[in-house]
Amino acid sequence: MVGRLARYLRFVGCDTAYARGWSDDRVLEIARREDRIVLTRDRALARRTTRALLLSSPAISEQWRQVVASFPAIPRTPSFRRCTLCNGGLVPYAVEPGQPRPETVPWDRVAAGLPLFRCGACGHLYWEGSHTANVGRQLARWSEGSGP
Ligand SMILES: [Zn+2]
Repeated sequence: MVGRLARYLRFVGCDTAYARGWSDDRVLEIARREDRIVLTRDRALARRTTRALLLSSPAISEQWRQVVASFPAIPRTPSFRRCTLCNGGLVPYAVEPGQPRPETVPWDRVAAGLPLFRCGACGHLYWEGSHTANVGRQLARWSEGSGP
C-alpha cells in the first residue's frame, strides 16, 4: 500500500524496510526488534503499536508531506546511501578491467568522472542522472506543499 513511499524514503537515505505480504504480527515483531516506526494506511495495524504513523491519504504527495511533518529530520534531497530496490547500503564502486559492464550505465560519463555506487546486498548500480534530478524536483514540490 505504501511501496512508492518506501522507495522515496530510500532515495533520501532512510533505512526503510518494506513489508510486502507480511502479516501484521510479523510487521510489529520486526518493527520492535529493529526499532522501526510503522508507516501504514491500515488503521487496525496502527492501533496495535505506539510507534506507528497512520497515513491518512492514498496519494504519495500527501503521504510524503505527512511523514516529513511528523519526522522533520528526514532529508528532502536524494542521496546515494540506500538501494531503492532492497534497502541495502550503497558503496562507491569502481569497475575493474574484465568485470561485466551493464549496458544501462553511461560508461562514457563514468570514464569522465561520474561516481558510481553499488548496492552491497543486491549489486544494483546507481549514478547521478536525469532520474535523480527528477526525484529531487518531485520531493521539492511535495515539500513546498504544491503538486500531486
Ligand atoms: Zn539492493
